[in-house]
Amino acid sequence: MAEKIKVATTSLAGCFGCHMSFLDIDERILELAQIAQFDRSPLTDIKTCSDHVDIGLVEGGLCNSENVHTLREFRKSCKILVAVGACAINGGLPAMRNHIPLQECLEESYLDAVGIENPQIPNDVELPLLLNKVHPIHEVVKVDYFLPGCPPSADVFWKFLTDLASGREPSLPYELVHYD
Ligand code: SF4
Repeated sequence: MAEKIKVATTSLAGCFGCHMSFLDIDERILELAQIAQFDRSPLTDIKTCSDHVDIGLVEGGLCNSENVHTLREFRKSCKILVAVGACAINGGLPAMRNHIPLQECLEESYLDAVGIENPQIPNDVELPLLLNKVHPIHEVVKVDYFLPGCPPSADVFWKFLTDLASGREPSLPYELVHYD
């Protein structure tokens, strides 16, 4: 029997919707388990990914220093790195704050918003430092494939992963990559 491909996932500045869409492959997950072994992912609850992952799926862009660190470590572990969804590809919804100065965003969220008691901007050393802008992941690491969508559909994940596992260059038919 051929060796299984090792798949890992990570979530940065995203909403976990891309992960949920991946899990929407439903019972096909059993078929996928025949050809793929899951490393760090929502299926395993492994916190740190091993050194030799074949395919790493990244959801979300980069909004703080921890995201950057996590992404760099993840890239080192993965032979093939995939930007999954709009947030990883171009910053997505979190990047809407890029048009507003960071200080203004913080003040609006923590000082001026309606119903806030004891207003203060969080300032704990344990908190990761916010970046001035939200960045897509390709600005920091090399990305091998981009899976568009918000989120990409379960069928997109399925087609992409089964193509790669079978040694085919992944190709997504038009009907899987549309935005209605
Ligand atoms: S691309 Fe869409 S579904 Fe995926 S993490 Fe971003 S907002 Fe969520």
